[in-house]
Amino acid sequence: MNNVVTKVAVVGSGISGAVCASTLAKNGVSVTIFESARGPGGRMSQRRELTEDGKELLFDHGAPYFTASNTDVLGLILEWETRGLIAEWKENFGSFDFISKTFIDIEKEGSSKRYVGVPGMNSICRALCQEPGVESKFGVGVGRFEWLEDDNLWSLTGLDGQSLGHFKGVVASDKNTVSLRFTDVTGRPPPLDLNLVPGLAVKMKQIPVSSYFALMLAYEQPVSSIPVKGFSFKNSEVLSRAFCDSSKPGRTTTSERWVLHSTEDFAKGIIAQAGLQKPSNATLTKVAEELFQEFQNTGFNIPQPFFKKAHRWGSAFPLASIAREDKCLWDGGKRLALCGDFCVSPNVEGAILSGMAAASKFVDILSCL
Ligand SMILES: Cc1cc2nc3c(=O)[nH]c(=O)nc-3n(C[C@H](O)[C@H](O)[C@H](O)COP(=O)(O)OP(=O)(O)OC[C@H]3O[C@@H](n4cnc5c(N)ncnc54)[C@H](O)[C@@H]3O)c2cc1C
Repeated sequence: MNNVVTKVAVVGSGISGAVCASTLAKNGVSVTIFESARGPGGRMSQRRELTEDGKELLFDHGAPYFTASNTDVLGLILEWETRGLIAEWKENFGSFDFISKTFIDIEKEGSSKRYVGVPGMNSICRALCQEPGVESKFGVGVGRFEWLEDDNLWSLTGLDGQSLGHFKGVVASDKNTVSLRFTDVTGRPPPLDLNLVPGLAVKMKQIPVSSYFALMLAYEQPVSSIPVKGFSFKNSEVLSRAFCDSSKPGRTTTSERWVLHSTEDFAKGIIAQAGLQKPSNATLTKVAEELFQEFQNTGFNIPQPFFKKAHRWGSAFPLASIAREDKCLWDGGKRLALCGDFCVSPNVEGAILSGMAAASKFVDILSCL
């Protein structure tokens, strides 16, 4: 690492924020990451559940895997693979048709490279958040970004009203920091008032998002009636994908764990009834039953699991990409970058590219920091 020159705050420890922070630190910029969740990863996080008898179960309940084609991203992938943070998930995948109740397509092993974090999807973000030059604060949500004109600095305040410090630059890696959706969910104004950066306000339209439910299942014994470890559903109004989480490299196999994803329409229907706020336990139980029922409707011999729990992803995928060219939004005068998958493409690769682009904006002005 070069001489540390300054402090940049990165809000969010999803893959875009983590890649941005790590790249900045490698270029000698000291970084503080603020993450409102208890751990790193955002939509690449790993869920830890404890059963009533104290068994620990881990699920990749967000992105199940990722693919990449961009050369810069492939370069990072190689580095992460060498460090043991990711591995290729080499299993057969298929597509199941609910009308004919058959697999209409089973891919050959290795036909496209699917990468997973090891031992969980959050492994990359966790490692990047711990790199030299990166300080990470989990369970700290940023409630307000304030521009101090006289000091030429940003001041950040936590959701609890505590001052989080002053920073020469800020990276916001979640569109909710500027979105009215933040208000719909929390009842508070978005942390970053776009009037502070009018140049970005024009580009940062309200971005529609799709929501999904994930169902986590755990079995004592393998569900041997399913011939593949990952599949999509055709002609189901309820389920879109299913993955055998415990078949990924580096996972414990003391139980067999599956994660099912609902369709977007199914999630829309539930949210129309239950609202955008955090779903109640009753709603999640109802969702779990409906998703599981559809899984059994496949006709495979699917027994009752010993663990079954649903999770809602209110903003699973952005439905627009607002900065395909520049890959992030940037205000050089105030040294503010907005990055995330919503800038490039709604997947891990898009988020990585956006995080890299945000870091390079700061690196370009390193001498002015
Ligand atoms: C169910 C599901 C399935 C998916 N499947 C795939 C797939 O198969 N392949 C693929 O490539 N991608 C998939 N994705 C998409 C992929 O996970 C995302 O594109 C990617 O992880 C987005 O990363 P990000 O850094 O842009 O955002 P996020 O991961 O959302 O990170 C933003 C972070 O900012 C934090 N944050 C927000 N506001 C604040 C605040 N005010 N203060 C502090 N912290 C804050 C959030 O807690 C979050 O951790 C899937 C996503 C979901 C949910």
